[in-house]
Amino acid sequence: MSWEALATEIRGCTACPELVAERDRVVVGELPAGARLVLVGEAPGAQEDLEGRPFVGRAGQLLDRLLAEAGLDRADVGVLNTLKCRPPANRAPKTPELARCRPWLERQLACSGDALLVALGGTAVGWFFGRGAKIGALRGSVATVDGRRVLPTYHPSAALRFGPNGAPMAALREDLALAASLL
Ligand code: SF4
Repeated sequence: MSWEALATEIRGCTACPELVAERDRVVVGELPAGARLVLVGEAPGAQEDLEGRPFVGRAGQLLDRLLAEAGLDRADVGVLNTLKCRPPANRAPKTPELARCRPWLERQLACSGDALLVALGGTAVGWFFGRGAKIGALRGSVATVDGRRVLPTYHPSAALRFGPNGAPMAALREDLALAASLL
């Protein structure tokens, strides 16, 4: 199935009644043709829900800046989320929601060939490595999960929360540079 056909299917999804009632848009994500790097975050926030694009709020602006520092152009990078619909008031995704949305991300990743995947934040890291996986213990190197190369790291929101001199910012910067060096 083509990316566009899959995106159309996802936009029609109504599997999570609470999210469907609150969302403005289904934020499918982006996968530029031939992308060698695909980032996987948690879920859309308010700005993403408004614009229908992933990572366009403050966290997204930071991500763009760190990608550019690593020599990467966001236009060449895939950006997906574990959930395609915004949880109300930006609460954390619930386990049943993640389970319902999982097949969509699986199918999206199947479209991404052998791209290097970067899991951003606890929810995405848990999606690949299992609940309870610790970013601090896993970050900084690439693991193979179900035949995919996955680099776990912090979410840009955590980097913002801990500030410019916080450990998550330094780790995210370092890990995106590592990802760039592996392409
Ligand atoms: S979060 Fe995923 S599974 Fe739930 S309604 Fe949105 S697209 Fe469907």
